[in-house]
Amino acid sequence: MPGSGRPSPPPPRPPWVLLPSPALLLLLLLVLLPGGTLRSGLDSAVGSEVNLLDSRSVMGDLGWIAYPKNGWEEIGEVDENYAPIHTYQVCRVMEQSQNNWLLTSWISNRGASRIFIELKFTLRDCNSLPGGLGTCKETFNMYYFETDDEDGRNVKENQYIKIDTIAADESFTELDLGDRVMKLNTEVRDVGPLTKKGFYLAFQDVGACIALVSVRVYYKKCPEVIRNLAIFPDTITGADSSQLLEVLGSCVNHSVTDEPPRMHCSAEGEWLVPIGKCMCKAGYEEKNNTCQACQLGFFKDLPQSQRCTKCPPHSYTREEASTTCLCEEHYFRKDSDPPTMACTTPSPITNVKKGKVAKNSISLSWQEPDRPNGIILEYEIKYFEKDQETSYTIIKSKETKITADGLKPASVYVFQIRARTAAGYGGFSRRFEFETSPVSVAASSDQTQIPIIAVSVTVGVILLAVVIGFLLSGRRCGYSKAKQDPEEEKMHFHNGHIKLPGVRTYIDPHTYEDPNQAVHEFAKEIEASCISIERVIGAGEFGEVCSGRLKIPGKRELPVAIKTLKVGYTEKQRRDFLGEASIMGQFDHPNIIHLEGVVTKSKPVMIVTEYMENGSLDTFLKKNDGQFTVIQLVGMLRGIASGMKYLSDMGYVHRDLAARNILINSNLVCKVSDFGLSRILEDDPEAAYTTRGGKIPIRWTAPEAIAFRKFTSASDVWSYGIVMWEVVSYGERPYWEMTNQDVIKAVEEGYRLPSPMDCPAALYQLMLDCWQKDRNSRPKFDEIVCILDKLIRNPSSLKTLVNASSRVSNLLGEHSPLGNGVYRSVGEWLEAIKMGRYTEIFMENGYSSMDAVAQVTLEDLRRLGVTLVGHQKKIMNSLQEMKVQLVNGMVPL
Ligand code: AMP
Repeated sequence: MPGSGRPSPPPPRPPWVLLPSPALLLLLLLVLLPGGTLRSGLDSAVGSEVNLLDSRSVMGDLGWIAYPKNGWEEIGEVDENYAPIHTYQVCRVMEQSQNNWLLTSWISNRGASRIFIELKFTLRDCNSLPGGLGTCKETFNMYYFETDDEDGRNVKENQYIKIDTIAADESFTELDLGDRVMKLNTEVRDVGPLTKKGFYLAFQDVGACIALVSVRVYYKKCPEVIRNLAIFPDTITGADSSQLLEVLGSCVNHSVTDEPPRMHCSAEGEWLVPIGKCMCKAGYEEKNNTCQACQLGFFKDLPQSQRCTKCPPHSYTREEASTTCLCEEHYFRKDSDPPTMACTTPSPITNVKKGKVAKNSISLSWQEPDRPNGIILEYEIKYFEKDQETSYTIIKSKETKITADGLKPASVYVFQIRARTAAGYGGFSRRFEFETSPVSVAASSDQTQIPIIAVSVTVGVILLAVVIGFLLSGRRCGYSKAKQDPEEEKMHFHNGHIKLPGVRTYIDPHTYEDPNQAVHEFAKEIEASCISIERVIGAGEFGEVCSGRLKIPGKRELPVAIKTLKVGYTEKQRRDFLGEASIMGQFDHPNIIHLEGVVTKSKPVMIVTEYMENGSLDTFLKKNDGQFTVIQLVGMLRGIASGMKYLSDMGYVHRDLAARNILINSNLVCKVSDFGLSRILEDDPEAAYTTRGGKIPIRWTAPEAIAFRKFTSASDVWSYGIVMWEVVSYGERPYWEMTNQDVIKAVEEGYRLPSPMDCPAALYQLMLDCWQKDRNSRPKFDEIVCILDKLIRNPSSLKTLVNASSRVSNLLGEHSPLGNGVYRSVGEWLEAIKMGRYTEIFMENGYSSMDAVAQVTLEDLRRLGVTLVGHQKKIMNSLQEMKVQLVNGMVPL
């Protein structure tokens, strides 16, 4: 009745109606399973728990057995995904002596000796049941029975071991079902130690009203973890609830043990008390629990160091995971120095003191630098008259003092000093300025005019003598050596090209009136009896080139190359022949062919040089096609560039730089050679007459040198680019068989050689830079050396090759810019020239691409069985034509 106060109690209902409906159970499940995470299947880890059974995740029949049959029953419902919900219920509260069993299927314990059982259930409050209070129970029992296999299901009830009596407790979730409050209980029990492979669980009802919503059986483990760079594996907890298992860790990759790493796995699956640790070994550092290699430019010398450190100044690494950094060229670090120390050149000299000063001389002394970085081999003292820097003198001294003489009186001189150790030269000191004394004008103030005039005349004469002496001493624009004491060596420079320690200016032997004088100034005379000739190795312009041995008394025997001047030579031929020695003798560099000496006092006249086992570079590369690594090729190029840098520093322009004029020894060291005196290149078969009459190796020569004979170090750089191309293509002829005229035209129009096959992009870019039309835009040799050094230090930068599709030779394919005459396949090409009959032979012998076909020689054709001369001609002519087209379609800049 409305408004009559408390609502009347609901009418009694049969007990099963009071149980939550399957749909309601589903709701319960969803509420109780946050994020559904517990819906994982067998064996999945829940935090540190591994499920052995989860009734909610079993898709098919659970296989559980109830007896008697009218006791526990499964509610056959499905969830929204049509997955079965395995809920068992029993509610025989009105009947006496209930004993209803529900047996699970066999559960493997998977090696765990202690397992946990989590039950979720609802239990009807007996007070709410009308009339059944006498028989109604509010608990049920849980049992287990251990067995190694599935045979134990039929054992008797009394063989089961009781785990516990389960009652509803406070840990429930209340659900307002409208007219009733349902309580979902969660109870967890553990069992252990288990000794067999598996077990059954059983639930015994003795007259309660229960819905068993889920059963989850699991064990706990300490999950795999990396702690202190040691890996601790998945570890199943111990059988005892208070047990701590000690576990040994193993060091992660690239790490080493400091103190053996150990940890303890608790019964709750937690790792406790880490002891000991691993450390990343030298060259590796810790990142995200792993040891990562130090990057290029970084190093780590000891496992104990925490991090990779940047290489100290003037040092570098060649590879990742470096334990130390290498010093750059000319930089140095003592063995006893820590690897964190910068590589340095000797430290500059700071403390320079003036000693005795006279009108023509100044004495200086200085202190050894504080940190010389090795034994000081000598000092170099550079000085010049103030504001006359282009004309300077260099004195080398082993002592820390010198006297600079031959100076002008009453003049200010600038001095700079540097030290040399095995590591090379240090920096120059700052400039020190000192003034010579004036010419003595003693008592001039109270003397008569005559003595003053006499003194003036004397001074004039002295000055004139000094000036004449000075001019005479520097007459040959270049340097002259004037030995002073054995500890000192003195050189004068005019308009010097000195950029490197010890590098002098090249003197053109033409400036000597008597070429014999030049050759004896720059080359040692060797006694013919010291030379034994072994065999002929080549033909030079003036005579044979032989190999042999040189044994100078007191020195060790050397293998040498001997160039001979053929009999019946003219005086000019002799001069030109020896001219090469006069030039070569001025050079001293590891990448310039070294002159041992000359034989001029007996016949035959000979030039003796160091022996280069592998002969000329072009022939050597052709013989060893494809045999070298990119780094080896770049190493060769670096050597050539270094030799050329030396020559350009000396002010020497080579004019005929080409692979045929580079010699290579057994260590693959390349040396620049061929220093013909005339440089009109009479001796070079590649040299051709230009319209202006000069003879020039067109394919190697810069356009400005061809057009108006502007030969400079920049034109040598152009030639160097061609040498790079020759080296990377293993001695291929630049511009193939194009005529010289076509080459000049193509280059003038801005076309450049295409990249050789498999050429690193960085190298091809350097070639293109060397072939800049504007010679000032080309790199200098020192820059080239620097670029190549960087590439060598960082080999991965050479991995990017010129894109195959951008290589013009590949453009013979469908992207060819060549228009007519473009062949998509070897077959198409042979068909087009009516030689289709050979297609199969070409393909079978590996000539399956136009790239491969481009390499075919006449000999190859014969080998392939193309024996008819007419056919050979047709094929070779067509190939020739294609190559010319190819070059005409060269890379436009
Ligand atoms: P050249 O007259 O300098 O062009 O020399 C002619 C040939 O002799 C070269 O192409 C080399 O094959 C060989 N040759 C010249 N000099 C040497 C050397 N120093 N060591 C080995 N072979 C050499």
